[in-house]
Amino acid sequence: MKAIVLFGSPGSGKGTQARMLTQCLSIPHVSTGDMLRDRIRHSVELGSCLAAKMHSGALVSDGVVNLMVEERLAQADAANGFVLDGYPRTLAQAEHLGHWLDGRGIREVVIHLAVDYNIIIGRLTGRRECPRCGTLYNLAFHPPKVDELCDLDGAKLAIRDDDRESVIRERLDAYDRQTRPVLDYYRNAGHRVLDVDASNDPPDVVFQKVRLAMRAG
Ligand SMILES: [Zn+2]
Repeated sequence: MKAIVLFGSPGSGKGTQARMLTQCLSIPHVSTGDMLRDRIRHSVELGSCLAAKMHSGALVSDGVVNLMVEERLAQADAANGFVLDGYPRTLAQAEHLGHWLDGRGIREVVIHLAVDYNIIIGRLTGRRECPRCGTLYNLAFHPPKVDELCDLDGAKLAIRDDDRESVIRERLDAYDRQTRPVLDYYRNAGHRVLDVDASNDPPDVVFQKVRLAMRAG
């Protein structure tokens, strides 16, 4: 039984690591973000309520999310394990999950993909987009042939609003504010949290570190 709880800050490549874990271990990726988006698409009544809450920036209540995750984890494909992504997001959710797992004699493995903020900011602030054709560049890893101009049509490249340093710092700070208490909860409850540095390595190298940490844990 591999019950993996995956945390990863913006820029840590969490989605890629979740995919590699699920493929390698043949267990499902249980992403509450994906599940909520699915519900919005498929359920008009509940969806409109959830959509309104998500758009207003309010979190969906712990009770709703707890129930949704419980239902998902009870499905047959999760019998041998799962990678939880985006959950638990609050202390109440972490406690709820803890009880649910305890009741089944399952011990979760908590993995935290941590990043150095300065490295992430350097990487993300190097992103550029062609306003005309939408081609993406990165000044550090995939620069245009001519400085700041699109290779395809010569348009002056732009920084997307999402990639501005103040926006990125705000996203990283928000992640920290939300996640730190949950990680502290696990540490204080005597769980080992496997901290893996995901700042600066390609995904397969980060994945090797994750596997090593899991074996050691
Ligand atoms: Zn272009």
